[in-house]
Amino acid sequence: MLKLENVHSYYRKIHALKGISLHVKEKSICCLIGANGAGKSTTLMAISGIQGIRQGNIILRGDFISKLPPEEIVKRGVVQVPEGRRIFPDLTVRENLILGAYLHRDRKKTKSLAEKAFTLFPILKERREQRGGTLSGGEQQMLAIARALMASPRLLLLDEPSLGLAPLIVEQIMAIIRQIRDDGLTILLVEQNANAALELGDYGYVIETGRVVLEDTSCELLKNPRVKEAYLG
Ligand code: ATP
Repeated sequence: MLKLENVHSYYRKIHALKGISLHVKEKSICCLIGANGAGKSTTLMAISGIQGIRQGNIILRGDFISKLPPEEIVKRGVVQVPEGRRIFPDLTVRENLILGAYLHRDRKKTKSLAEKAFTLFPILKERREQRGGTLSGGEQQMLAIARALMASPRLLLLDEPSLGLAPLIVEQIMAIIRQIRDDGLTILLVEQNANAALELGDYGYVIETGRVVLEDTSCELLKNPRVKEAYLG
């Protein structure tokens, strides 16, 4: 579904991505793990077209997308849930969801997507007239994921969905991500919580200072002594 080939990206003089190559297979969960500042978020932003790349290729279902603007990449089914959720705090849950469906001008389609989101996240249905800012951290993360699903993505980019959440809530969010994959979506998951990500994922890449230093199936990475020591505590 998605391939990155030798991708380099800079923030002025900072060489943030130093030749990242990876492959996200259709209908799988691919994890990017690594420490703070390794380049995980930059990788997602490069795929979304928000962060420019200076060298390399980003290929989505056979098409080179690295020169496309972000809105064109969204139209091709790549939707990012950014770190820190960034929902609209003053809008209700329902209004946040409707904004996620801005690509579909069709009210019927928007309604059916919202119904689907409410089935996946029943708590959001209960809270649908509540303002986003009044939700708990876990509910806001659910809303951020639900809003992304309203754009009918084929590839979902999730940046640190577990950040700042209690272990029980992390489990719930991870179970929902698994459900979304089982429903046929492809997911690229960035996580500092390597344990939770690899338990859930199919394949994983370890990123250190802008480079992929290790890749394997999630099962093998969970057993790998280097990963255990550096990332699994
Ligand atoms: P985190 O989990 O902290 O978000 P990360 O693995 O996602 O870490 P990135 O945010 O991609 O890492 O950062 C990669 C490198 O780029 C780091 O050295 C970081 O300091 C630098 N960087 C990130 N954003 C900017 C920016 N807006 N301006 C300058 N440098 C940046």
